[in-house]
Amino acid sequence: MLEVIIIGGGVMGAATACFLARDHGAAVTVVERDPSYAQASSSLSLSSIRQQFSQPVNMGLSRWSVEFLRRAADELATPDDRPAIGLVEPGYLYLAGAAGAATLRELHALQRAEGVDVALLEPAALAARFPWLAVDDVALGSLGLSGEGWFDGPALHRAFRRKAQACGVRFVPAEGVGFETGAGRVSALRCADGTRLRGDAFVIAAGAWSAPLGRALGLALPVHAKKRDVFVLETPAALPGCPLVIDPSGAWFRTEGARLLAGGPPRGVDVDDAPLHDIDHGLFEDWLWPTLAARVPALEALRLRSAWAGYYEMNAFDHNGLAGRLPGWANAYTACGFSGHGMQQSPAVGHSMARLIAGLDAPLIDALTPQRLLDGRPLREANVI
Ligand SMILES: Cc1cc2nc3c(=O)[nH]c(=O)nc-3n(C[C@H](O)[C@H](O)[C@H](O)COP(=O)(O)OP(=O)(O)OC[C@H]3O[C@@H](n4cnc5c(N)ncnc54)[C@H](O)[C@@H]3O)c2cc1C
Repeated sequence: MLEVIIIGGGVMGAATACFLARDHGAAVTVVERDPSYAQASSSLSLSSIRQQFSQPVNMGLSRWSVEFLRRAADELATPDDRPAIGLVEPGYLYLAGAAGAATLRELHALQRAEGVDVALLEPAALAARFPWLAVDDVALGSLGLSGEGWFDGPALHRAFRRKAQACGVRFVPAEGVGFETGAGRVSALRCADGTRLRGDAFVIAAGAWSAPLGRALGLALPVHAKKRDVFVLETPAALPGCPLVIDPSGAWFRTEGARLLAGGPPRGVDVDDAPLHDIDHGLFEDWLWPTLAARVPALEALRLRSAWAGYYEMNAFDHNGLAGRLPGWANAYTACGFSGHGMQQSPAVGHSMARLIAGLDAPLIDALTPQRLLDGRPLREANVI
């Protein structure tokens, strides 16, 4: 029986473990240093899903994943649970001013060629569809008509863990610190508590903290922890049919039940490992709120209820996930660096990683091979929110 050790029990590690055990009968151990997942990106995610990317590989992964999410209650059912992940599909709406309209048209052509269900809307059509939106300075909008929206990410993460456990996966509370190796193969994971875990294959799925594990295998994984703030807002305004709106300024907002979630790019230097408690409230007061109110005049009246921050696991090389076998190693793999779009891709990536480790083809993630780091072939994703 194939024995696999996965380091990191976030949504990527849990999904990979689940598919390995469920579909390939592998014996899997997931090593997780914090079983509360308090700082894991998977617990702090906005958990939205879109098809509007610039790279076909990302469109393919999100298409596979949204179909899986629609069936999640069946796919991830256990004898005592049918998980509800709360998927809704109101779309993403990218807005462009005069300067960005040509880019939006180019991306639209690329997305249509890949079969993405997306429409370009002129300002009059936008105003008719979303009467609460100010479109005076908008030249064009790109709206996802299906396959885009949001879901309960922590519920998906939990469902992958429960299904994995129901299929025999062991979750071990420990911190992986190094490897035992020989002849181009990894033979064991060394943990901080002195234990050694032997296996046939090893997967680094440690999210924003994957780089030290890569270093232990002589590889520079360019993955950095970049803090992103999310503001939780209350407003008496009704925004019927509200999609996830991305303003030309980079500000974004979407609904969450009766509330709004909103955020934007960080101000100043985007340092690594900024403390998560250090929310930039000035960003909200000085820039985000006025920007939101300019786009949706009804949002002049709103109240900041709370805020949280989590880490994007940013791949500085090209803002895309690294998924596949690690160069120079016969049996070591990674799934990390998804740069803020990993929650939505976890079903397709977990499914594909499991196939790869089981010795099958995994065309959905071919383009994400970590080999591209050594080849100097970036696969730059232009649409990173
Ligand atoms: C604010 C915010 C908004 C986001 N919005 C979206 C979105 O809308 N859509 C989307 O698709 N994605 C979004 N993301 C990104 C998404 O959440 C991540 O891509 C995804 O959760 C990454 O999962 P992961 O398993 O790789 O990492 P994580 O969830 O961080 O899991 C990694 C795990 O590894 C463990 N670990 C680390 N080092 C070790 C070690 N040495 N030994 C043992 N365990 C270790 C950690 O404790 C952690 O539990 C967002 C993220 C944030 C922070």
